Amino acid sequence: MRPALYPFMRPLRERSVPLKIVLLGATGSIGQQTLDVVRAHPDRLRIVGLGCRSRIDVLLEMLEQIQELQPGDRPLVAVTDPVARERLAASEADSHRLVRGDGNALVELVRTAEADCLVNGLVGAVGLEPTLAAADEGLRIALANKETLVMGGDLVAAAVAAGGAEVLPVDSEHAAIAQCLSGRPADEVRRLILTASGGPFRETPAAKLPRVTVAEVLDHPTWKMGPKITVDSATLMNKGLEIIEAHHLFGVAYDHIDVVVHPGSTVHSLVEFADGAMLAQMGTPDMRLPLQYAINGQHHWPLDCGRLDLTALGPLRFEKPDTERFPCLALARAAGRVGGSAPVVLNAANEIAVAALLAGHIRFTDIGAVVAEALAREPDHLVPDLVAVLETDRRARALAETIVHERSR
Ligand code: MG
Repeated sequence: MRPALYPFMRPLRERSVPLKIVLLGATGSIGQQTLDVVRAHPDRLRIVGLGCRSRIDVLLEMLEQIQELQPGDRPLVAVTDPVARERLAASEADSHRLVRGDGNALVELVRTAEADCLVNGLVGAVGLEPTLAAADEGLRIALANKETLVMGGDLVAAAVAAGGAEVLPVDSEHAAIAQCLSGRPADEVRRLILTASGGPFRETPAAKLPRVTVAEVLDHPTWKMGPKITVDSATLMNKGLEIIEAHHLFGVAYDHIDVVVHPGSTVHSLVEFADGAMLAQMGTPDMRLPLQYAINGQHHWPLDCGRLDLTALGPLRFEKPDTERFPCLALARAAGRVGGSAPVVLNAANEIAVAALLAGHIRFTDIGAVVAEALAREPDHLVPDLVAVLETDRRARALAETIVHERSR
Protein backbone atom coordinates (compact mmCIF):
# COMPACT_ATOMS: atom_id res chain seq x y z
CA MET A 1 0.00 0.00 0.00
CA ARG A 2 1.17 3.53 -0.78
CA PRO A 3 -0.06 6.41 1.39
CA ALA A 4 -3.70 7.26 0.62
CA LEU A 5 -5.21 10.73 0.32
CA TYR A 6 -8.53 9.38 1.45
CA PRO A 7 -8.75 9.55 5.27
CA PHE A 8 -10.06 5.93 5.71
CA MET A 9 -10.74 5.49 9.45
CA ARG A 10 -9.22 8.84 10.46
CA PRO A 11 -12.02 11.09 11.83
CA LEU A 12 -12.67 14.22 9.79
CA ARG A 13 -11.89 17.64 11.23
CA GLU A 14 -14.69 19.57 12.93
CA ARG A 15 -15.87 22.36 10.64
CA SER A 16 -18.06 25.35 11.30
CA VAL A 17 -21.87 25.23 10.99
CA PRO A 18 -23.00 26.36 8.51
CA LEU A 19 -20.12 25.00 6.47
CA LYS A 20 -18.49 27.76 4.41
CA ILE A 21 -17.91 26.73 0.81
CA VAL A 22 -15.71 28.19 -1.88
CA LEU A 23 -16.91 26.91 -5.23
CA LEU A 24 -14.63 26.81 -8.29
CA GLY A 25 -15.99 26.05 -11.72
CA ALA A 26 -19.11 27.75 -10.39
CA THR A 27 -20.82 28.30 -13.73
CA GLY A 28 -20.30 24.73 -14.97
CA SER A 29 -22.25 21.57 -14.33
CA ILE A 30 -20.70 20.84 -10.92
CA GLY A 31 -21.13 24.46 -9.87
CA GLN A 32 -24.82 24.52 -10.70
CA GLN A 33 -25.41 21.20 -8.96
CA THR A 34 -23.52 22.40 -5.88
CA LEU A 35 -25.91 25.33 -5.69
CA ASP A 36 -28.78 22.82 -5.78
CA VAL A 37 -27.27 21.00 -2.79
CA VAL A 38 -26.79 24.27 -0.88
CA ARG A 39 -30.38 25.23 -1.71
CA ALA A 40 -31.54 21.95 -0.12
CA HIS A 41 -29.67 22.74 3.13
CA PRO A 42 -29.45 26.53 3.58
CA ASP A 43 -29.11 26.13 7.35
CA ARG A 44 -26.09 23.85 7.05
CA LEU A 45 -24.24 25.10 3.95
CA ARG A 46 -23.20 28.56 2.86
CA ILE A 47 -21.34 29.80 -0.21
CA VAL A 48 -18.58 32.30 0.59
CA GLY A 49 -16.68 32.27 -2.71
CA LEU A 50 -17.36 31.67 -6.39
CA GLY A 51 -14.75 31.25 -9.10
CA CYS A 52 -15.14 30.78 -12.83
CA ARG A 53 -13.43 31.53 -16.13
CA SER A 54 -15.64 33.79 -18.19
CA ARG A 55 -19.40 33.12 -18.04
CA ILE A 56 -20.38 36.32 -16.27
CA ASP A 57 -24.08 36.10 -17.10
CA VAL A 58 -24.43 32.73 -15.39
CA LEU A 59 -22.32 33.99 -12.48
CA LEU A 60 -24.52 37.05 -11.92
CA GLU A 61 -27.60 34.84 -12.00
CA MET A 62 -26.02 32.58 -9.38
CA LEU A 63 -25.12 35.56 -7.20
CA GLU A 64 -28.75 36.62 -7.28
CA GLN A 65 -29.93 33.16 -6.25
CA ILE A 66 -27.34 33.04 -3.46
CA GLN A 67 -28.51 36.46 -2.29
CA GLU A 68 -31.98 34.96 -1.80
CA LEU A 69 -30.60 31.94 0.06
CA GLN A 70 -28.30 33.90 2.35
CA PRO A 71 -29.58 37.51 2.50
CA GLY A 72 -27.02 40.22 3.17
CA ASP A 73 -24.18 37.79 2.71
CA ARG A 74 -22.34 38.23 -0.59
CA PRO A 75 -19.65 35.75 -1.63
CA LEU A 76 -16.22 36.77 -2.91
CA VAL A 77 -15.89 36.30 -6.65
CA ALA A 78 -12.92 35.43 -8.88
CA VAL A 79 -12.96 35.44 -12.68
CA THR A 80 -9.87 34.30 -14.57
CA ASP A 81 -10.61 35.66 -18.03
CA PRO A 82 -9.34 39.28 -18.01
CA VAL A 83 -11.99 40.64 -20.39
CA ALA A 84 -14.82 38.99 -18.45
CA ARG A 85 -13.33 40.23 -15.17
CA GLU A 86 -13.37 43.84 -16.36
CA ARG A 87 -16.95 43.44 -17.60
CA LEU A 88 -17.99 42.13 -14.19
CA ALA A 89 -16.16 44.91 -12.36
CA ALA A 90 -18.00 47.46 -14.50
CA SER A 91 -21.44 45.82 -14.11
CA GLU A 92 -21.45 44.95 -10.42
CA ALA A 93 -22.60 47.36 -7.75
CA ASP A 94 -20.35 45.79 -5.12
CA SER A 95 -17.39 44.96 -7.33
CA HIS A 96 -15.16 45.10 -4.24
CA ARG A 97 -16.22 41.48 -3.77
CA LEU A 98 -14.15 40.72 -6.87
CA VAL A 99 -10.81 39.10 -6.02
CA ARG A 100 -8.05 40.65 -8.12
CA GLY A 101 -4.85 38.75 -7.37
CA ASP A 102 -1.78 39.50 -9.45
CA GLY A 103 -1.23 35.86 -10.30
CA ASN A 104 -3.88 33.17 -10.12
CA ALA A 105 -7.21 34.70 -9.04
CA LEU A 106 -8.65 31.27 -8.15
CA VAL A 107 -5.75 30.56 -5.80
CA GLU A 108 -6.18 34.02 -4.30
CA LEU A 109 -9.89 33.30 -3.77
CA VAL A 110 -9.18 29.97 -2.04
CA ARG A 111 -6.67 31.68 0.24
CA THR A 112 -8.83 34.69 1.16
CA ALA A 113 -12.43 33.38 1.32
CA GLU A 114 -12.01 31.94 4.85
CA ALA A 115 -13.85 28.82 3.75
CA ASP A 116 -14.04 25.38 5.38
CA CYS A 117 -14.49 23.52 2.13
CA LEU A 118 -13.33 23.86 -1.46
CA VAL A 119 -15.62 22.37 -4.10
CA ASN A 120 -13.31 22.03 -7.08
CA GLY A 121 -15.48 21.69 -10.19
CA LEU A 122 -12.92 23.16 -12.58
CA VAL A 123 -12.26 21.40 -15.85
CA GLY A 124 -8.75 20.25 -16.67
CA ALA A 125 -5.29 21.27 -15.57
CA VAL A 126 -6.35 24.65 -14.15
CA GLY A 127 -7.71 22.73 -11.15
CA LEU A 128 -4.31 21.74 -9.77
CA GLU A 129 -3.07 24.99 -8.23
CA PRO A 130 -6.30 25.85 -6.37
CA THR A 131 -6.35 22.29 -4.95
CA LEU A 132 -2.78 22.72 -3.71
CA ALA A 133 -3.71 26.07 -2.14
CA ALA A 134 -6.71 24.47 -0.40
CA ALA A 135 -4.51 21.62 0.83
CA ASP A 136 -2.08 24.16 2.20
CA GLU A 137 -4.94 25.98 3.98
CA GLY A 138 -6.15 22.73 5.57
CA LEU A 139 -9.56 22.80 3.90
CA ARG A 140 -11.93 19.94 3.23
CA ILE A 141 -11.55 19.42 -0.52
CA ALA A 142 -14.58 18.05 -2.37
CA LEU A 143 -12.72 17.12 -5.50
CA ALA A 144 -14.54 16.85 -8.82
CA ASN A 145 -11.46 17.88 -10.82
CA LYS A 146 -9.78 14.52 -11.37
CA GLU A 147 -7.07 16.12 -13.54
CA THR A 148 -5.67 17.52 -10.28
CA LEU A 149 -4.70 14.02 -9.13
CA VAL A 150 -3.72 12.76 -12.58
CA MET A 151 -1.20 15.58 -12.99
CA GLY A 152 -0.08 16.15 -9.44
CA GLY A 153 -1.25 13.31 -7.21
CA ASP A 154 2.06 13.15 -5.36
CA LEU A 155 2.21 16.93 -4.90
CA VAL A 156 -1.34 16.98 -3.54
CA ALA A 157 -0.50 14.13 -1.16
CA ALA A 158 2.47 16.07 0.22
CA ALA A 159 0.45 19.30 0.57
CA VAL A 160 -2.45 17.50 2.25
CA ALA A 161 -0.11 15.78 4.72
CA ALA A 162 1.56 19.10 5.58
CA GLY A 163 -1.59 21.25 5.80
CA GLY A 164 -4.02 18.88 7.52
CA ALA A 165 -6.52 19.02 4.65
CA GLU A 166 -8.96 16.26 3.67
CA VAL A 167 -9.66 15.14 0.13
CA LEU A 168 -13.10 13.65 -0.43
CA PRO A 169 -13.99 12.48 -3.93
CA VAL A 170 -16.96 13.86 -5.86
CA ASP A 171 -16.38 11.63 -8.86
CA SER A 172 -19.28 9.19 -8.53
CA GLU A 173 -17.14 6.04 -8.76
CA HIS A 174 -14.72 7.21 -6.11
CA ALA A 175 -17.54 8.48 -3.91
CA ALA A 176 -19.06 5.01 -4.22
CA ILE A 177 -15.77 3.42 -3.17
CA ALA A 178 -15.54 5.85 -0.24
CA GLN A 179 -19.00 4.72 0.87
CA CYS A 180 -17.98 1.06 0.62
CA LEU A 181 -14.83 1.78 2.63
CA SER A 182 -16.57 3.77 5.32
CA GLY A 183 -15.21 2.71 8.71
CA ARG A 184 -12.93 0.01 7.28
CA PRO A 185 -9.15 -0.17 7.48
CA ALA A 186 -7.06 0.28 4.32
CA ASP A 187 -5.21 -2.99 4.78
CA GLU A 188 -8.38 -5.07 4.32
CA VAL A 189 -8.90 -3.77 0.78
CA ARG A 190 -7.89 -6.14 -1.98
CA ARG A 191 -9.26 -4.61 -5.16
CA LEU A 192 -11.18 -1.59 -6.38
CA ILE A 193 -13.63 -2.10 -9.24
CA LEU A 194 -14.62 1.02 -11.14
CA THR A 195 -17.78 0.79 -13.20
CA ALA A 196 -18.05 2.53 -16.58
CA SER A 197 -21.28 3.22 -18.42
CA GLY A 198 -19.46 2.40 -21.66
CA GLY A 199 -20.51 5.73 -23.14
CA PRO A 200 -22.60 6.30 -26.28
CA PHE A 201 -20.45 3.98 -28.45
CA ARG A 202 -20.44 0.89 -26.26
CA GLU A 203 -21.95 -1.16 -29.08
CA THR A 204 -20.66 0.82 -32.07
CA PRO A 205 -18.45 -1.29 -34.38
CA ALA A 206 -14.83 -0.14 -34.68
CA ALA A 207 -15.23 0.66 -38.39
CA LYS A 208 -17.92 3.26 -37.64
CA LEU A 209 -16.07 5.09 -34.87
CA PRO A 210 -14.01 7.39 -37.14
CA ARG A 211 -17.23 8.79 -38.60
CA VAL A 212 -19.24 9.54 -35.44
CA THR A 213 -20.36 13.17 -35.08
CA VAL A 214 -19.64 15.55 -32.20
CA ALA A 215 -23.37 15.56 -31.37
CA GLU A 216 -23.27 11.76 -31.05
CA VAL A 217 -20.16 11.98 -28.84
CA LEU A 218 -21.94 14.45 -26.55
CA ASP A 219 -25.06 12.30 -26.18
CA HIS A 220 -24.15 10.47 -22.97
CA PRO A 221 -26.59 7.67 -22.10
CA THR A 222 -26.79 8.13 -18.31
CA TRP A 223 -24.94 11.11 -16.79
CA LYS A 224 -25.55 14.84 -17.20
CA MET A 225 -22.09 16.47 -17.32
CA GLY A 226 -20.04 19.16 -19.06
CA PRO A 227 -18.68 18.66 -22.62
CA LYS A 228 -15.06 17.77 -21.77
CA ILE A 229 -15.91 14.92 -19.40
CA THR A 230 -18.66 13.74 -21.75
CA VAL A 231 -16.13 13.35 -24.57
CA ASP A 232 -13.79 11.60 -22.11
CA SER A 233 -16.62 9.20 -21.26
CA ALA A 234 -17.12 8.36 -24.93
CA THR A 235 -13.40 7.56 -25.44
CA LEU A 236 -13.18 5.83 -22.01
CA MET A 237 -10.31 8.23 -21.23
CA ASN A 238 -12.50 9.32 -18.34
CA LYS A 239 -12.25 5.83 -16.86
CA GLY A 240 -8.51 5.83 -17.51
CA LEU A 241 -8.12 9.11 -15.63
CA GLU A 242 -10.27 7.62 -12.88
CA ILE A 243 -7.88 4.66 -12.50
CA ILE A 244 -5.07 7.13 -11.81
CA GLU A 245 -7.36 9.15 -9.53
CA ALA A 246 -8.27 6.00 -7.56
CA HIS A 247 -4.61 5.04 -7.24
CA HIS A 248 -3.76 8.36 -5.59
CA LEU A 249 -6.94 8.64 -3.52
CA PHE A 250 -7.02 5.18 -2.01
CA GLY A 251 -3.35 4.18 -2.21
CA VAL A 252 -4.12 1.00 -4.17
CA ALA A 253 -1.64 -0.41 -6.71
CA TYR A 254 -2.62 -0.30 -10.40
CA ASP A 255 -2.76 -4.11 -10.57
CA HIS A 256 -5.54 -4.00 -8.00
CA ILE A 257 -7.77 -1.45 -9.78
CA ASP A 258 -10.13 -2.99 -12.34
CA VAL A 259 -12.69 -1.52 -14.70
CA VAL A 260 -15.98 -3.16 -15.71
CA VAL A 261 -18.49 -1.78 -18.17
CA HIS A 262 -21.88 -1.55 -16.51
CA PRO A 263 -24.56 -0.07 -18.77
CA GLY A 264 -27.22 1.80 -16.83
CA SER A 265 -24.86 3.22 -14.20
CA THR A 266 -26.74 2.09 -11.11
CA VAL A 267 -23.84 0.30 -9.40
CA HIS A 268 -21.43 3.21 -9.05
CA SER A 269 -18.38 1.08 -8.12
CA LEU A 270 -17.29 -1.78 -5.86
CA VAL A 271 -14.63 -2.78 -3.36
CA GLU A 272 -13.37 -6.33 -2.94
CA PHE A 273 -11.94 -7.06 0.49
CA ALA A 274 -9.19 -9.49 1.53
CA ASP A 275 -11.67 -12.29 2.24
CA GLY A 276 -13.35 -11.93 -1.16
CA ALA A 277 -16.38 -10.06 0.15
CA MET A 278 -17.55 -7.37 -2.24
CA LEU A 279 -19.42 -4.21 -1.39
CA ALA A 280 -21.12 -2.12 -4.05
CA GLN A 281 -22.79 1.25 -3.82
CA MET A 282 -25.97 1.84 -5.82
CA GLY A 283 -28.17 4.83 -6.46
CA THR A 284 -29.67 7.02 -9.13
CA PRO A 285 -27.06 8.49 -11.48
CA ASP A 286 -27.22 12.05 -10.15
CA MET A 287 -24.02 13.98 -9.43
CA ARG A 288 -25.69 15.92 -6.60
CA LEU A 289 -25.55 12.77 -4.44
CA PRO A 290 -21.75 12.30 -4.48
CA LEU A 291 -21.34 16.09 -4.32
CA GLN A 292 -23.38 16.36 -1.15
CA TYR A 293 -21.65 13.32 0.41
CA ALA A 294 -18.22 14.91 -0.12
CA ILE A 295 -19.19 18.45 0.90
CA ASN A 296 -20.89 17.44 4.14
CA GLY A 297 -18.07 15.16 5.29
CA GLN A 298 -19.66 11.86 4.27
CA HIS A 299 -23.20 12.01 5.57
CA HIS A 300 -26.36 10.77 3.88
CA TRP A 301 -28.44 13.91 4.28
CA PRO A 302 -31.85 13.87 2.59
CA LEU A 303 -31.79 15.00 -1.05
CA ASP A 304 -34.54 14.82 -3.60
CA CYS A 305 -32.83 12.92 -6.43
CA GLY A 306 -35.36 10.19 -7.09
CA ARG A 307 -35.10 6.62 -5.81
CA LEU A 308 -33.89 3.43 -7.42
CA ASP A 309 -36.70 0.95 -7.95
CA LEU A 310 -34.85 -2.36 -7.75
CA THR A 311 -37.66 -4.41 -9.24
CA ALA A 312 -37.80 -2.08 -12.25
CA LEU A 313 -34.06 -2.27 -12.92
CA GLY A 314 -33.95 -5.57 -14.72
CA PRO A 315 -30.75 -7.62 -14.81
CA LEU A 316 -27.50 -5.87 -13.89
CA ARG A 317 -24.90 -6.38 -16.61
CA PHE A 318 -21.15 -6.22 -16.23
CA GLU A 319 -18.82 -6.55 -19.24
CA LYS A 320 -15.10 -6.43 -19.94
CA PRO A 321 -14.08 -3.08 -21.47
CA ASP A 322 -12.87 -3.22 -25.08
CA THR A 323 -9.41 -1.62 -25.13
CA GLU A 324 -9.05 -2.22 -28.88
CA ARG A 325 -11.90 0.11 -29.72
CA PHE A 326 -11.17 2.38 -26.77
CA PRO A 327 -7.35 2.58 -26.53
CA CYS A 328 -7.41 5.57 -24.14
CA LEU A 329 -8.22 3.27 -21.23
CA ALA A 330 -5.03 1.25 -21.67
CA LEU A 331 -2.97 4.38 -22.43
CA ALA A 332 -4.03 5.95 -19.15
CA ARG A 333 -3.34 2.85 -17.11
CA ALA A 334 0.13 2.53 -18.66
CA ALA A 335 0.89 6.23 -18.10
CA GLY A 336 -0.21 5.92 -14.47
CA ARG A 337 2.14 2.97 -13.97
CA VAL A 338 5.09 4.86 -15.47
CA GLY A 339 4.28 7.89 -13.30
CA GLY A 340 6.32 11.11 -13.34
CA SER A 341 5.71 13.09 -16.52
CA ALA A 342 3.65 10.40 -18.31
CA PRO A 343 0.23 11.12 -16.71
CA VAL A 344 0.86 14.87 -17.13
CA VAL A 345 1.53 14.36 -20.85
CA LEU A 346 -1.46 12.02 -21.16
CA ASN A 347 -3.77 14.60 -19.60
CA ALA A 348 -2.43 17.59 -21.54
CA ALA A 349 -2.57 15.78 -24.89
CA ASN A 350 -6.07 14.60 -24.14
CA GLU A 351 -7.29 18.11 -23.28
CA ILE A 352 -5.88 19.43 -26.56
CA ALA A 353 -7.34 16.53 -28.56
CA VAL A 354 -10.79 16.92 -26.96
CA ALA A 355 -10.81 20.65 -27.74
CA ALA A 356 -9.78 19.84 -31.34
CA LEU A 357 -12.60 17.32 -31.65
CA LEU A 358 -15.16 19.80 -30.29
CA ALA A 359 -13.85 22.40 -32.75
CA GLY A 360 -14.29 19.93 -35.60
CA HIS A 361 -10.57 19.67 -36.41
CA ILE A 362 -10.03 15.96 -35.80
CA ARG A 363 -12.08 12.77 -35.74
CA PHE A 364 -13.21 10.89 -32.64
CA THR A 365 -10.65 8.12 -33.16
CA ASP A 366 -7.84 10.68 -33.50
CA ILE A 367 -8.06 11.44 -29.78
CA GLY A 368 -6.39 8.18 -28.75
CA ALA A 369 -3.88 8.52 -31.58
CA VAL A 370 -2.89 12.07 -30.54
CA VAL A 371 -2.45 10.99 -26.91
CA ALA A 372 -0.43 7.89 -27.86
CA GLU A 373 1.84 9.89 -30.13
CA ALA A 374 2.40 12.63 -27.54
CA LEU A 375 3.36 9.99 -24.98
CA ALA A 376 5.74 8.37 -27.47
CA ARG A 377 7.41 11.66 -28.45
CA GLU A 378 7.83 13.20 -24.98
CA PRO A 379 10.58 11.38 -23.05
CA ASP A 380 9.58 10.23 -19.55
CA HIS A 381 11.07 12.24 -16.73
CA LEU A 382 10.47 13.02 -13.06
CA VAL A 383 8.23 15.94 -12.04
CA PRO A 384 9.32 16.63 -8.45
CA ASP A 385 7.53 19.96 -7.97
CA LEU A 386 4.76 22.21 -9.28
CA VAL A 387 7.11 24.08 -11.62
CA ALA A 388 8.13 20.81 -13.26
CA VAL A 389 4.50 19.66 -13.58
CA LEU A 390 3.40 22.94 -15.15
CA GLU A 391 6.40 23.04 -17.48
CA THR A 392 5.70 19.46 -18.63
CA ASP A 393 2.03 20.33 -19.08
CA ARG A 394 2.93 23.38 -21.20
CA ARG A 395 5.35 21.43 -23.40
CA ALA A 396 2.94 18.52 -23.85
CA ARG A 397 0.17 20.89 -24.93
CA ALA A 398 2.42 22.45 -27.58
CA LEU A 399 3.44 18.97 -28.76
CA ALA A 400 -0.18 17.81 -28.91
CA GLU A 401 -1.15 20.95 -30.87
CA THR A 402 1.55 20.06 -33.40
CA ILE A 403 0.29 16.48 -33.65
CA VAL A 404 -3.31 17.66 -34.05
CA HIS A 405 -2.17 20.04 -36.79
CA GLU A 406 -0.32 17.23 -38.58
CA ARG A 407 -3.36 14.95 -38.41
CA SER A 408 -5.93 17.53 -39.45
CA ARG A 409 -4.13 18.32 -42.70
MG1 MG B 1 -16.81 9.37 -12.78
